[in-house]
Amino acid sequence: MIIFKSINKLKKKVNFKANIGFVPTMGALHKGHISLIKSSKLKCQKTLVSIFVNPSQFNKKNDYKKYPRKLNRDIKILKKLRVDYLLIPKVSDIYKNKKNMKIKISKNDKILCAKYRPGHFEGVLAVIKQFLSKINAKYMFLGEKDYQQIYLIKKFIINKFNTKIIPCKTIRLKNSLAYSSRNFLLSKIDIKKASSISKIIKRFYLLTQKNFKNIDRINDLKNKIKSQNIKIEYLEIRNKINFSKKINKSNFKIFISFYIKNIRLIDNF
Ligand code: AMP
Repeated sequence: MIIFKSINKLKKKVNFKANIGFVPTMGALHKGHISLIKSSKLKCQKTLVSIFVNPSQFNKKNDYKKYPRKLNRDIKILKKLRVDYLLIPKVSDIYKNKKNMKIKISKNDKILCAKYRPGHFEGVLAVIKQFLSKINAKYMFLGEKDYQQIYLIKKFIINKFNTKIIPCKTIRLKNSLAYSSRNFLLSKIDIKKASSISKIIKRFYLLTQKNFKNIDRINDLKNKIKSQNIKIEYLEIRNKINFSKKINKSNFKIFISFYIKNIRLIDNF
């Protein structure tokens, strides 16, 4: 595995005429990341992973500071997976000035995480722009755990970059809680609690798939979660294609953001 600490060096050394798969991450790797890497390895000649805790997508300084960082462990995992290239850039390598650190999103898109984490996706789009302007990958692998992120990145890069997005399914712990780097910040008891929330929502999702009228019981679902002493940031059902509230049996998706202690988790079913 070749490790690059500078994106310009990577641009010079990597042959982007080859079929390259790009997997951007913030590190603290888990089975979710590993599944994206495996998908890239299956589809592409070479796989490039980046580890970059992007400051501009954190709307709280303390959250950025506390974000789990496990670089040595991550490098071992990536070597074992036989990843071809790893990019670990510094903040100053990616952003030459403050102006580059945000890309505006439309008012209509300021829903769910975009509403409750102001500036978050603006930072995500900014880093994607910096990456793709130097990394001419054929494919970029993104996880459906961050479903709204895929929607906004797709919308942003269309007509700007040639890279095609490959959405990958959410990988879960024992079929319930989605793997997340933030799970490293939770105790065993917290993980159990978070898993039970995933199970409750999944059950609601399956029932609604069978009988769409069940959707009217969304407030019961909210109350059930709240009764477990969980603070919900949002729990909404939206159209999975265009994020509108026009939903039917085949296009609905449940989105949740909630807190376990002060750790914010998101999921969708
Ligand atoms: P992150 O390191 O959290 O920025 O995530 C890097 C990539 O991994 C993003 O495309 C995420 O959507 C994806 N990802 C994170 N968790 C999971 C998961 N449990 N299953 C599948 N993909 C995931």
